[in-house]
Formats: sequence, C-alpha cells, structure tokens
Amino acid sequence: METIDSIRAMHAWSERARAAGRRIGFVPTMGYLHTGHVSLVTEARRRRADLVVASIFVNPLQFGHNEDLDRYPRDLERDTRLLVEADTDVLYMPQASEMYPEGFQTAVTVEHVTRGLCGEKRPGHFRGVTTVVAKLFNAVRPHLAVFGEKDYQQLVAIRRMVRDLDFDIEVVGGPIVRESDGLAMSSRNAYLSPPERQAALCLSRALAASETAVREGERGGAAVLDRAYAVLNAEPRARIDYVALADPESLRPVDRIAGPTLLALAVWIGQTRLIDNTLLGRGAAWGEG
Ligand code: AMP
Repeated sequence: METIDSIRAMHAWSERARAAGRRIGFVPTMGYLHTGHVSLVTEARRRRADLVVASIFVNPLQFGHNEDLDRYPRDLERDTRLLVEADTDVLYMPQASEMYPEGFQTAVTVEHVTRGLCGEKRPGHFRGVTTVVAKLFNAVRPHLAVFGEKDYQQLVAIRRMVRDLDFDIEVVGGPIVRESDGLAMSSRNAYLSPPERQAALCLSRALAASETAVREGERGGAAVLDRAYAVLNAEPRARIDYVALADPESLRPVDRIAGPTLLALAVWIGQTRLIDNTLLGRGAAWGEG
C-alpha cells in the first residue's frame, strides 16, 4: 500500500490510474478504523473498483466548538495494518494545513436534507462534511465512492451534492456493521467505559423494539417511536438527543409508516454521543420489520 500525503501527489496518482483505464474506488474516513470501515473497502472492490483509495483525515471543519476534535481517537499503525489486510492500494492522508490554508473561505452547503436530525443538533456539521468530501473527491477523482449507512444523513447529503454539483462519481451505501451484541461499530465506541459500553446497547435495542412494533402491524408513528423511547428511558446512563422517523430520501419527518421509513436516533451515553438507524417497512409483507 502506498501512502500519499499531498494533494499534488494524489492528483498525479489519480491521473496515472485514469490514463491506464483503471476504475478508482474511494472510502473516506477519519481513521481509528474498525470492521465497518473495512467493509466499505470490500464493497468498493465488489463494485468493480480496480484500485481502492482510503483516506484518513480528521476534518476540523465538521466538529463544533464543544465537540471531540482534540480527543478524537487515533492509531495509525493499526489503521495501516487493517487497510493492508483489506488490500487497499492507497492511503491518502492530507495535512490540515494544506486542506485549509490561510485564506480558505469556500464551503459546500446542501440545504434541505441537512436541516433535521443530526443537522439540527450539530449546526455546521454537514457543511463541514460536504466541503471536505468535495475537496477529497477533487483530489482523488474516484469513479466510485462508498459511504456507510451508519451515517445515513451524511450519505443522503453526499448523494444530493454529487447530483447537484455534477460530480461524475457513483455513490454507494454500505450496510451498518455491528458488534455481535448489536452495537453499531463506531470509532467513538472507544470512549465508552465498560458500564457505558453495556448501556450503549440501548440504541440498537430501541431500534429493534420499534422494528418489532412495525412487524406486528403498528403503523402509527407516535406508537412506533414510543417503543424506542421506552427502551431508551429505561437506561439511566442514556440521554436522548433525538429519535425520529423520516422519509429515507427527502429526510422529511413522517408520522405514519406507509412504506420504507428511516428510524434514526442519537443518544448520549455519558460524554459520548452515539447514533444509529434502521429502515422500517421494507420487504413485500414488511416481514423484515
Ligand atoms: P468515520 O471514520 O466515522 O468518518 O466513518 C467513515 C465511513 O465509515 C463513513 O462512510 C461511515 O458511515 C462509515 N462507517 C462508520 N461506522 C460504520 C459501521 N458500523 N458500518 C458501516 N459503515 C460505517
């Protein structure tokens, strides 16, 4: 695996790969990698990428003032090993000073789909995400980019940006990878103490409770949300940030399950904010919940 740390060198690599007719897959990350990230590299290969670039960049622009930018976990040695094992061709690690030099003043803002859910709770977050992803796209110039459904709103915002700004890139979503007990994998799980790690199971359990309600025929949004609230409220270490039902494409709020519906939640466990989601009302007889 080659490591590239300047925009100019990334451009040169990409130009060579394209001239050779190779299809470039791209997986952007903030590092401290886990099996969820690795699954996105595998997905890029499955989608016929000849070469896969993964980036690690802890993007200051997407963190609020009181958020965890300074303590975001890092382990480059382990990340490198995981990427090599996953057969990644290039690790792209741009420097913050080159990404945001003095005088930087341009941003990409996706309007409607970034307003609700996490957008309401983390002002400026998605503006930081779409801006950095646009810059990474311009540096890597991939044919295909893979994002996790774990950050569902992010995936929707990036799809919108790619369409609206005519990026010639196929955006692919990868399913949420979970620990064996149901906790969605996240770099931020590293912050959790053992009792908090146990308490964090309330997120996936809350989703499962709502899924069960839908599978049993419940269609009322409030009733479906109540099932999730009941699980979360029973966990003393949990503080709910939001629990919401939304249309999976527009992300507009919905109050009935009349077809595929996103159930998304954000919950504080101690000082750690965790997110999770599921798609309700899938399948012919909605048998999958
Ligand atoms: P991050 O490093 O948290 O910025 O995440 C980088 C990419 O990995 C994003 O597209 C995430 O949605 C994705 N990702 C993070 N956790 C998971 C997970 N548990 N399963 C699948 N994808 C994930």
